[in-house]
Amino acid sequence: MRGNILIAGLGLIGGSIALAIKRAHEDATVIGYDVSNESLRLARSLGVIDEAVPSFAHAAREADVIVLAVPVVQTEQLLRELAHLPLRSHVIITDVGSTKERIVEQALPLLEKGVAFIGGHPMAGSHKSGVAAARAHLFENAFYILTPTEHVKEEDVIRLKQWLKGTKAHFVTLTPREHDRIAGVISHFPHIIAASLVHQAQQYEREDELVSRLAAGGFRDITRIASSNPEMWRDIFIHNKEELLQLFDRWIEEMKKIRTYVADGDSERIYHYFHEAKQFRDGLP
Ligand code: NAD
Repeated sequence: MRGNILIAGLGLIGGSIALAIKRAHEDATVIGYDVSNESLRLARSLGVIDEAVPSFAHAAREADVIVLAVPVVQTEQLLRELAHLPLRSHVIITDVGSTKERIVEQALPLLEKGVAFIGGHPMAGSHKSGVAAARAHLFENAFYILTPTEHVKEEDVIRLKQWLKGTKAHFVTLTPREHDRIAGVISHFPHIIAASLVHQAQQYEREDELVSRLAAGGFRDITRIASSNPEMWRDIFIHNKEELLQLFDRWIEEMKKIRTYVADGDSERIYHYFHEAKQFRDGLP
């Protein structure tokens, strides 16, 4: 397909989307914008984008597709900016943010003007960040959530999927709220658990420095995501606060339950706790 694709935010995700679009649409022109000149320069020299632009507003007016691939708080800012710009009548705007409800709310002025904004979240990534880590195949076989509202025409959703077909992801449509609830359970909350386990080990390390030297295997597996970008995770926790507060409450209850089993030396309940978890985990597709 021909067209100008503007990607704002040339990090891991924006860079990977750019590469995936280029591999499926050789005639498209992928234009990059980033607040960091270094990321822009690197994206251009790695061939991730065809052109680098210094002004988001200027490039947005000429774009056929706009992908917002910046941290979620910045996504809200760019949506506010877009609401005041003269855009092409057929433009499709999407984002890749890990939260959806607040972002879709910010897009309401655009949607009410008839602009096609379709929230998106490719559910793949890495604890690495930056354009140097971008890969065209990052999203292959991953789920790619889309959250179109009733303002959006089905043909625009189909057109967006066409543009994104090079991701080779599986598209799933959810409401923004459903997305935030599920992402809270399987993605956002586990980051707190990983970070809290690391904090706990760090505290114990003050008593015995062998703790970090012996931390291997399982500890490294379960805490890998604690190495993720703290700025990105701060913003996600600000955005998905309500869902996460509920998850904290349920988690505390869960810990109290298993703590009681351990305190009571209740071997049967402890066994079943692990056994049921293993069965559910082994049955995951
Ligand atoms: P990243 O840090 O690799 O890249 C973000 C880029 O955005 C950087 O180059 C930064 O300079 C740029 N940027 C920041 N503010 C900007 C602004 N106002 N205008 C233009 N550029 C700006 O981050 P990432 O991992 O690519 O994450 C980007 C988005 O993707 C986030 O919204 C995140 O929630 C979402 N996401 C991340 C993952 C993941 O695992 N990393 C997975 C799915 C979705």
